[in-house]
Amino acid sequence: MSTLHYNIAIIGAGAAGLHLALAMYNDPYFRDHRILILEKSAKDQNDRTWCFWEKGEGLWDDLIQHSWPQGDFFYKDNTVPLALTPYRYKMLRSIDFYEFAKKKILSGSMFHWVEEDVQSVTNETPIQINGLKTVYTADIVFDSRIPNEFMQTKDSYTRLLQHFKGWVIRTNYDAFDTDRFTIMDFRLGWPETTSFTYVLPLNKREALVEFTLFTSSLLQKNDYEQVLQNYIRKYLKIQEFEIVEQEQGVIPMSDFPFEKYSNGNHIHIGTGGGWVKPSTGYSFKNCERNSRKLIENLKLKRPLNVGLHKRKFRIYDTLFLDILYRQNEFGPELFNTMYTKISVQTIFAFLDDQTNFKQDLFILSRFPRKPFLISIFKKITQRWNRS
Ligand SMILES: Cc1cc2nc3c(=O)[nH]c(=O)nc-3n(C[C@H](O)[C@H](O)[C@H](O)COP(=O)(O)OP(=O)(O)OC[C@H]3O[C@@H](n4cnc5c(N)ncnc54)[C@H](O)[C@@H]3O)c2cc1C
Repeated sequence: MSTLHYNIAIIGAGAAGLHLALAMYNDPYFRDHRILILEKSAKDQNDRTWCFWEKGEGLWDDLIQHSWPQGDFFYKDNTVPLALTPYRYKMLRSIDFYEFAKKKILSGSMFHWVEEDVQSVTNETPIQINGLKTVYTADIVFDSRIPNEFMQTKDSYTRLLQHFKGWVIRTNYDAFDTDRFTIMDFRLGWPETTSFTYVLPLNKREALVEFTLFTSSLLQKNDYEQVLQNYIRKYLKIQEFEIVEQEQGVIPMSDFPFEKYSNGNHIHIGTGGGWVKPSTGYSFKNCERNSRKLIENLKLKRPLNVGLHKRKFRIYDTLFLDILYRQNEFGPELFNTMYTKISVQTIFAFLDDQTNFKQDLFILSRFPRKPFLISIFKKITQRWNRS
């Protein structure tokens, strides 16, 4: 086996790896660097759609499949219309992002992209990356793999799964309002769980309809499909439709301290770095923000992990997640309280970790206190037992 040395290696060219590589591509600071990208798959499939909210124009607007200025939230007989301005809710197909990023990166002479399945990383200086085919070394490694410790569930961290199945359906008549999307519809769920459907109209005759659960275990394949069928007929009032595309996935929702498994110049990124918002499962915008932060730290020669995680919001996420874990059937009520009593702009800012303490107090005061107090007590006890 030969050994090849690079200044920087990025393991995994998914959302996080590509955000980071694109940010390096756009920064002249990296022009004289040798940057290795190790990705085990061809990245030629549309394996997910990414949705996120954003104020005004954003970096990926040329790639956006559709965006919406308005939405609706549904729970029982309560409908909350959401006027998002100055935000828009945007949707991006992953294949468009992969192709765009790959084309750019391959045109940059500082990058070397190798299809390689990384087996292990050893924290020597320089850091050694053991691939199936080759051994590489690098001064800095950004690693999208999920730390093995996360899989060992014998600890007291909360682990929920966000799991979902979605269909892009097509009708032979105009069935959708392309200016409105459904962010969460709890009217038809899986009994005693936090589960909902969302609807993203792509044009007047096509929409992505996705049934999603925040629970501890997965359903059978047919169960997701049964709910989708029922939802489309009962709430979208569509009897005849064609399924054009399908999407299925699982996202970990956890307060596991991923950042502890990064050390020195070996930094976990993306899901494996704890960049998925534990209480919502969103991470696309975190990949953009954290890539910017990592580059800033690198250029200023600061410890690379500085400023990636905001402690205050980690605490809120931990509590919210614990309530969903203990009382999963209570989730719909919680989200209903949130969308009914708090403006969508404040919710988006809060979920983006952008609110100040006064706003946080306003938000927290809208929720019933008891479940939060129980979770605070439980988490303090667990922390005490761990230390
Ligand atoms: C179906 C689906 C839909 C989602 N929708 C949204 C959404 O709407 N909005 C949102 O904000 N978030 C969403 N998420 C959550 C999150 O944004 C994505 O999971 C995101 O892709 C995470 O980025 P990542 O880089 O950590 O992982 P990935 O994008 O999965 O990338 C990891 C990459 O590493 C590669 N890799 C793994 N192991 C190795 C190895 N040993 N050697 C080499 N390469 C390796 C993989 O092949 C992959 O390309 C969704 C997730 C899923 C699964």
